Amino acid sequence: MRFEDVLKKFGRTTVLKDLNFSVGRGERVTLIGPSGSGKTTILRLAMTLERLTGGYIWVDGDPLTHERRDGKRHELKPKQVAEVRKRIGMVFQQFNLFPNMTVLENITEAPVHVLGQSPDQAKDNAMSLLDRVGLRHRADAHPMEMSGGQQQRVAIARALAMDPEILLLDEVTSALDPELVGDVLGVLEDVADNTDITMLIVTHEMQFAQDVSNRVMMFDGGRVIEEATPQEIFSNPQHERTQKFLEAVNLG
Ligand code: ADP
Ligand code: MG
Repeated sequence: MRFEDVLKKFGRTTVLKDLNFSVGRGERVTLIGPSGSGKTTILRLAMTLERLTGGYIWVDGDPLTHERRDGKRHELKPKQVAEVRKRIGMVFQQFNLFPNMTVLENITEAPVHVLGQSPDQAKDNAMSLLDRVGLRHRADAHPMEMSGGQQQRVAIARALAMDPEILLLDEVTSALDPELVGDVLGVLEDVADNTDITMLIVTHEMQFAQDVSNRVMMFDGGRVIEEATPQEIFSNPQHERTQKFLEAVNLG
């Protein structure tokens, strides 16, 4: 996935400007940076939940929402956007499960309605994903009956059910009680170890970032100001803003 000259404004406020970065196929990249710096906005743009103000996002060379023709920027038709968006999954800080559906219905809804899988096929796949996240026994529960950690594991299973090439993870453990964080991170480490899904991760869990990512990008003021392997950036940050940020996170 590649962001090229991305510009994002909310009204008159510019949140992202001249933003350029790539995440290679199968690569795991962690995005760190201060609160309010635009990390969620980056993921929401990639998920097409926000509109690009300027620039381009490419998914393995294919345009996501805009393409260049005759040197000009053209918006793609909704149908084309939907095709490319299918290849991307996202897990949110606040789980965002459908409260009126069971766990199983949450996971099978999009595979049936978006991918056109048969209900049986979607159910089989959902049950094996529930096995993977340790929640097969909760298939008929409703989200409200579950802990936040369980809901988040369902949300991960739901994203994986779409068989995404790219998985976007937005502070997926930030809303959880501390004792529930480990299980969720364990599931994600398992996904990282056993799939070739490209992952773009926003997290304050630096140990997790170190364990799963190939590269860490420090983001501030709408741009990537420093990037390196987790070992390098955590032990020897070059930029003063990175140093301050990491100190603050480690103390927090
Ligand atoms: P982060 O995830 O790094 O904390 P966000 O992407 O959530 O940052 O927010 C970046 C900036 O964009 C913030 O100043 C935030 O207030 C603003 N912002 C985010 N979403 C909206 C929106 N829908 N309307 C107006 N401003 C927004
Ligand atoms: Mg955020």
